[in-house]
Amino acid sequence: MSLKVNFFSAGYCTHPEAVVIRDGKWQSANFPSLFAAIVHPTLGVILFDTGYSSRFFQETRALPLRLYALATPVYFQPADSAVSQLQQSGISPESINYIIISHFHADHVGGLQDFPNARFICFNSAYQAVKNRQGWSALKAGFLPGLLPTDFEHRRISVEDLQTVSLPPQYLPFDTGCDLFGDGTLLAVELPGHATGQLGLFVVDADERTYFLIADACWLSRAYQEFIRPHPIASLIFANDREYVDTLAKIHQLHQFNPDLNIIPTHCAKTWERLNKSMTS
Ligand SMILES: [Zn+2]
Repeated sequence: MSLKVNFFSAGYCTHPEAVVIRDGKWQSANFPSLFAAIVHPTLGVILFDTGYSSRFFQETRALPLRLYALATPVYFQPADSAVSQLQQSGISPESINYIIISHFHADHVGGLQDFPNARFICFNSAYQAVKNRQGWSALKAGFLPGLLPTDFEHRRISVEDLQTVSLPPQYLPFDTGCDLFGDGTLLAVELPGHATGQLGLFVVDADERTYFLIADACWLSRAYQEFIRPHPIASLIFANDREYVDTLAKIHQLHQFNPDLNIIPTHCAKTWERLNKSMTS
């Protein structure tokens, strides 16, 4: 099947680099919030995450959720939203039938409300870990409850209910995954640690390029390439520090076994620059 994968950045935030990578500088760096539009031959455009939306600012106006916006200052213009950028490329919000959600942090689910017909695919464990959180508990999970559509519950599809498959040997040490549409095109695996039930996605495009979208399993490409952990302070926001390190170790191993695979962390400016160049060339 011939798939095409397009990447976009919907806003960015700033944060000291040394927090996200242990040998980084204590200098503020920019972290783009990527999302992918996967053009499937029969199912139309499928999104992987949505990046920020202007709702982030509304939902972080009052304490305690305001602390979220203070920790990661967000730079976002309405034209940066997933819905605006897709419309610019001739894709209407109504035409999106599926959005795959890596996890429920605000910089990934910010745009969900803009797609009225989309079903939401995520690990049930990820949703259960956030769904009843409010106030301080929501803040701890990086979750802004007001970003979810009110009918989210009815529109979600649990990855746990879909078909489990063996993965091809080139994806080792990831050996089993979930075939999201039963056609072998989009294979999901769990990347726990950063958030409970975080979802990673293997996609092969029409040119036989394989992408592995790893969301926030690490923030910078150098972290999985050289297996560098973040500063211990970052673990304050992790669901499980030990699982974070296990997941990072697996991605590092995968990269060593298969260096040609395009591993895409959501917030790595270098990766985004490379993707942007290859899409415009
Ligand atoms: Zn993120």
